[in-house]
Amino acid sequence: MPEGSSNTEGQPGIVSAALFGLCPECGARTLFAGSVAQFAERCRVCGLEFRGFNVGDGPAAFLTLIIGALITGLALWLEVAVHPPFWVHVLLWVPLTTGAVVWGLRAGKAALLAAEFQRNAGEGRVKE
Ligand SMILES: [Zn+2]
Repeated sequence: MPEGSSNTEGQPGIVSAALFGLCPECGARTLFAGSVAQFAERCRVCGLEFRGFNVGDGPAAFLTLIIGALITGLALWLEVAVHPPFWVHVLLWVPLTTGAVVWGLRAGKAALLAAEFQRNAGEGRVKE
């Protein structure tokens, strides 16, 4: 095998790209701009344009369903097992749900972008 035959060298896997917000091209932590789940315009290290990838709201529906089911299950379990006062539920589940949604949205969007990058997917294009 000649050296440098693999052009995926140095690129992060989808999982680590999702967890840490890594650029799928160079692996730098540049995927997200200041706000929590907003992509940066492009990678500050290698210049890859993140704007060209359109992950849309794909992860949002999944997240709402999964996190909703998870939190509801946990809340029911806590109520049955411990029967805490109502404010305990508010204090516990509101920040937990918010955190889970924001973190999950970040990870979900990053995973989709990394998957699109690795498979060279994009908007429909006409060749020529
Ligand atoms: Zn990069």
